[in-house]
Amino acid sequence: MNRRKFIKNTALTGAGLTLTNSLLNCAENPSDKKETVVAESEKSEPSLPLVIATWHVKEATAKAMEVLQAGGNALDAVEQGCMVEEANEKGQSVGKGGLPDRDGNVTLDACIMDKNGNCGAVVYLQNIKHAVSVARKVMDDTPHVMLAGEGAQQFALSQGFETEDLLTEASRKAWEKWKVEAKYKPIINIENHDTIGMLAIDKNGDISGACTTSGLAYKMGGRVGDSPIIGSGLFVDNEIGAAVATGLGEEVVKTVGSFLVVELMRQGKSPQEACEEAIGRIVNKPNSNYKDFQVGYIAVNKKGETGSYSIHQWFSMTKFQNGVNEQIQSDFFNKEEKS
Ligand code: ASP
Repeated sequence: MNRRKFIKNTALTGAGLTLTNSLLNCAENPSDKKETVVAESEKSEPSLPLVIATWHVKEATAKAMEVLQAGGNALDAVEQGCMVEEANEKGQSVGKGGLPDRDGNVTLDACIMDKNGNCGAVVYLQNIKHAVSVARKVMDDTPHVMLAGEGAQQFALSQGFETEDLLTEASRKAWEKWKVEAKYKPIINIENHDTIGMLAIDKNGDISGACTTSGLAYKMGGRVGDSPIIGSGLFVDNEIGAAVATGLGEEVVKTVGSFLVVELMRQGKSPQEACEEAIGRIVNKPNSNYKDFQVGYIAVNKKGETGSYSIHQWFSMTKFQNGVNEQIQSDFFNKEEKS
């Protein structure tokens, strides 16, 4: 069976769409995931540099750590780490090979933020796999924060990026199958990673973050999620810490999730407590239909302490610190469904 699984269809309130709660479970085989669980309490004292990322992306965190160990800064580390997954055609939620929208177009969203609070983003970018690098160019070489669609692509071309078809044969087949079986309704994907959100602290103690995604599989044309929205999908405050989100972007945007996590840390909460409270803001809303979707946060504070939390089981964080690159299973809110 393909890495990607589809569970059940659920209504996405307000959008009039039907989505699966794929992000309810990122594991094809839960027992596989248990092998990699490492309890946070068993961790040694925080030390720098460090890298954390959403889901199971050890090659990406290894690349970022290589940059940091060579004396590189956190900004270069998160960009290069995210690029590993963007180039990985087997990952069907990021960069090349990402699942398309309902019309068969692969559209990418990404953002990046540095220690000085500078940031750049691209939304609805097509035919250029390294969306995170285009976002960095927006930050570094334009007076703007965000470029969209055709304008983003034109800018990328002017910067030397090359176009390529991002729809792989595997993703095209999945889309065609979906069109038949799901009757043209968008579906959230499940696989062992989704959006890549990455946070790093370099040897100087400076923090940067990045986030890149092809977004919700089979989304409506033009849909943009949380991932490129500074404050929602990602936020970095070099005095306090940083956070990044994955899951159903609409719910993250409604609570400005990553900014919220950082502000909670500013008020004295640990990264773990801050992630838990941010998930609480979603699940405790009146009439929240949280059982039908997943959201997960990871966070790091200035001391190098980390946290992660999700609504449902099987969200995980990859962490590279003290020479150990490991997948850490996240604690989660909905214990009713624990298996
Ligand atoms: N947050 C992404 C989005 O809503 C999806 C994901 O994390 O897989 O576009």
